[in-house]
Amino acid sequence: MDKLIDKHGRQISYLRLAVTDRCNLRCQYCMPENGIDIVHRNELLTYKEMYRITRVLSELGVDKVRLTGGEPFVRKDFISFLESLSFNKSLKEINITTNGALISKHIDKLEEIKINAVNLSIDSLDRKKFFEITRRDVFPQVFETYQDLLKSNLKLKLNVVIQSGVNTDEIIDFIELTKNDKVSVRFIEEMPFNGKGQRQVREVWNYNKILKTINSHYSDVETLISQKSSTSKNFKINGYKGTFGIIPAFTRTICTDCNRIRITATGLFKNCLFDDGVFNIKNFIRNGASDDELKQLFISTVQQKPENGFIAEANRKNTKVSESMSTIGG
Ligand code: SAM
Ligand code: SF4
Repeated sequence: MDKLIDKHGRQISYLRLAVTDRCNLRCQYCMPENGIDIVHRNELLTYKEMYRITRVLSELGVDKVRLTGGEPFVRKDFISFLESLSFNKSLKEINITTNGALISKHIDKLEEIKINAVNLSIDSLDRKKFFEITRRDVFPQVFETYQDLLKSNLKLKLNVVIQSGVNTDEIIDFIELTKNDKVSVRFIEEMPFNGKGQRQVREVWNYNKILKTINSHYSDVETLISQKSSTSKNFKINGYKGTFGIIPAFTRTICTDCNRIRITATGLFKNCLFDDGVFNIKNFIRNGASDDELKQLFISTVQQKPENGFIAEANRKNTKVSESMSTIGG
């Protein structure tokens, strides 16, 4: 079988696919208050196109897919799309990243079609602060989803973007959730993907500072052995049921073992979160490309995957990193 291997010897086996650029929330770190300029529906990949792209990639060794967005659950018939993907037996894992505001009623179905894991984004445990961050008053719905997911057999991770002067005082509260809940909380360094660029902050909250804060509170932080390609460095408090991790998304110390590619909702292929898109698969497919042509394009494009996120950023044609994460697919 042909495989996707880059010139640094890294094999790609993980696709992050954004199913939409639309979202029901307006998180401060992701998009401006009035949202982003969403594209016309015809510009979005259709489910049929997404299914085909995923199938072709799975024939090249991709065995893990994460569906993200925008908010995946705002796209009509998302569940049916998930169901169709679940018939692709080459995929060992289908995971979802969601803000959780719309998913409570779908949890049984997600279990039934054997979705592997859900990453639920929740940046505060305080309703007022949650509203300030997301600009929508949906904390009760999101927390209900959290509790329902805990009761399900889906693996559960929480994504918490650490924002200076906003939610750093809740780091310990989030870790305390892991005392009794079988959940993995992941603290994510904030990146400038918010539709505007780098936000002005008084203090930089990076991986080291987050870990230092945790270590100064607990004397028994255990380091866990993580999978080679894991995006997070993982830990647990001795005796707690759950775990926690830190994702150095902005300081980018995880690139050496990267096994990921991204496809945006409009079909832009990205070798790296920090590049500005390598080619548009949608146009290629709509111009009649065969599966073999698609495969050759994926193979040759992946070879050019930049060594790390800093090189990818330096190579951008539009120099500034500022697009909204909802268009990239986080
Ligand atoms: N709407 C879904 C959600 O919020 O989970 C999926 C899409 S969202 C873009 C995916 C992940 O990216 C979320 O966990 C979100 O917190 C994270 N994210 C968005 N903007 C970010 C930024 N500027 N820096 C770091 N993480 C960000
Ligand atoms: Fe929407 Fe997710 Fe971006 Fe928040 S982080 S605005 S929920 S896409």
